[in-house]
Amino acid sequence: MKLLILFVFATFGSFAFSQSTSQEKIDYYKYVIGYLAADSMHGRAIGTKEDQLISQFIQAELKSVRKMRTKQQEFSFVYDSINYQSQNIIGFYNNHAPSTILITAHYDHIGLGGKLSNSQGVHAVHNGADDNASGVAMLLSLAKSVANLNAQFNYMFVGYGAHEVGLFGSEYFARNLPKKLKNIHLALNFDMIGRLTSNQSLYYDNNDTLQNPFAKISAPKLKLVDSTSDRINLLDSKWLAQNGIPSVTISTGKHIDYHKITDDIEYINFEGLALIETFLIDWFNTRSEGTNNPTQKTGD
Ligand SMILES: [Zn+2]
Repeated sequence: MKLLILFVFATFGSFAFSQSTSQEKIDYYKYVIGYLAADSMHGRAIGTKEDQLISQFIQAELKSVRKMRTKQQEFSFVYDSINYQSQNIIGFYNNHAPSTILITAHYDHIGLGGKLSNSQGVHAVHNGADDNASGVAMLLSLAKSVANLNAQFNYMFVGYGAHEVGLFGSEYFARNLPKKLKNIHLALNFDMIGRLTSNQSLYYDNNDTLQNPFAKISAPKLKLVDSTSDRINLLDSKWLAQNGIPSVTISTGKHIDYHKITDDIEYINFEGLALIETFLIDWFNTRSEGTNNPTQKTGD
């Protein structure tokens, strides 16, 4: 078992994707979600050693990307009268551009259940494969491909800690923005993007600063659905949006396994993730500096 894990690490840890195929991406999502949502991670609850392990894993994956600078941003907070420590993991890829696209996803989950669980009275691992190992997989996969993304922007990747108990990681990040992050062109957050269904809906929540960000781009094989703008206040986009930073969270939506012990890897739509990533890369590549509107693209 150990040997296998080492082999997988060596395979993915040592190189950045150049022009990876969707099969390579799918293998990578499986690797990341398999790691975060494993039973041995005990549901990635705040204050646990697994919370630390996952953050180290994210940092190591970001660090393996050429030219990516990484750091751990530690913070403490009080939840249920207990003082906790957690951390955000930050990666910065500098294209020496005047503005930066920020890509974020929370990595924690709800551990063995408790009051945030919808599996009432069950004390068991809540794997959180969709919530939000899927978002972390997308973030890391984009990071691995960052050299191929639109070089008109810098890219910052942030794995947020302590989301489930009250958006503490994203709040701390927004209050202590790194100096490198002078100008945020767009803050894109992923929360539960692993369950694309046959109607292919991708929901997005955005603040007013960024008027209908998906309006002018065609999304082959995806149905883009504007969610209610209130929802952004329940998501990690909340704090940056409140500061007037163009913010959007995308999601494949809530489902019957939400915050239950059945949010498992076997229900993840890996092809769907690859479809979403292709869409996002196209979307980045049609954006240009100095405008929050994508440049016109032909198509519907
Ligand atoms: Zn959640």
